[in-house]
Amino acid sequence: MITVTEEKIKAFLAMVSESESIVLLTHFRPDGDALGSTYALRTFLKDACGRDSIVILSSLVPDSLGFITSAADLGSTLVWDDDSENASRAIDSADMIICLDCAHFGRCEAPGEHAIASHARKVLIDHHLNPESSQFDLVFSESECVSSASELLYYVLLATPQAAGDAARIPAAARRALMAGMTTDTNNFANSVHPTTLRMASELIAAGTDRDEILGHLYNEYRENRFRAMGFLLSERLTVTGKGIAYIIVDQETRSRFDLREGETEGIVNMPLGIGNVKISIMLTEDGDKYRVSIRSKRGWSANNMAVRYFNGGGHEQAAGGRLYIGKDIADSCELESYLAKVISES
Ligand code: 5GP
Ligand code: MN
Repeated sequence: MITVTEEKIKAFLAMVSESESIVLLTHFRPDGDALGSTYALRTFLKDACGRDSIVILSSLVPDSLGFITSAADLGSTLVWDDDSENASRAIDSADMIICLDCAHFGRCEAPGEHAIASHARKVLIDHHLNPESSQFDLVFSESECVSSASELLYYVLLATPQAAGDAARIPAAARRALMAGMTTDTNNFANSVHPTTLRMASELIAAGTDRDEILGHLYNEYRENRFRAMGFLLSERLTVTGKGIAYIIVDQETRSRFDLREGETEGIVNMPLGIGNVKISIMLTEDGDKYRVSIRSKRGWSANNMAVRYFNGGGHEQAAGGRLYIGKDIADSCELESYLAKVISES
């Protein structure tokens, strides 16, 4: 059961009303839930609490998720990679920093590292395993019973006097962002769906949120190259091992050949789980001096354990991620297959 106590809501709103300058942070390479929860909160703070805030992202938003941020006031967003000077100044002068959809500041990369030293009051709103609570003054964290940070935030907002339990009193742009975030983290209701997830969806639709419009943006606006790359990766780059572990390697050459942009391989890692005897699916994407790693598992198998143990990462039991550093974890990219053979033999 989600526990959003009255005391925590009071403490949260007191911090908001006492703060002149509020900064919102989320994880690096933001996904739909990261952006959905962050921009929903920004809209709520502005429209329902009369408080402006600045969103600081470590890197740019993928085109496919631009519909979430473009509905918000983009003048309020700073991207660290583009303007670290103003971004760090905003963090230094903040008196409240709210971190969404990540278990600790480290997942926000540079802006998060910068925020740790800040004297601002810090709040966490998250749904990952093992939150680093000591970094925060106030923590809303549920890992077992919510689908997403967007779902947890929905119940936080609903419990405020501004919404008073009525979804229709949450600003429309915030409702849309929350629905988009929850939809992406559940893979459109395919996983991590709880009774509260369905209640949220039902209440948002009843309040007028247009789910079809959101689904159109999320799933019907890809570029053709995504599908060409998907065909190639599934036929030429998927290895299914006897131990029920499958992996796909997306090397730099494949990324260039299909002109793959950020977010365009989203969801492909789930596909091998459709094979009867596959229990864990891993996708490794070459990215400069590292491979970015995505892991998905069937119930009874832990993607999180594998991410923590072998890929410098973590996440959730059935969906986790991390990184494998070339020159540190493996000597060079030729060693990747033998590293995977070791992971598979020990799993
Ligand atoms: P994805 O594979 O979609 O990038 O990530 C799957 C899940 O694992 C998401 O909830 C994501 O936030 C989490 N995750 C991805 N990478 C990391 C990581 O390096 N550390 C932790 N703690 N979680 C991660
Ligand atoms: Mn999330």
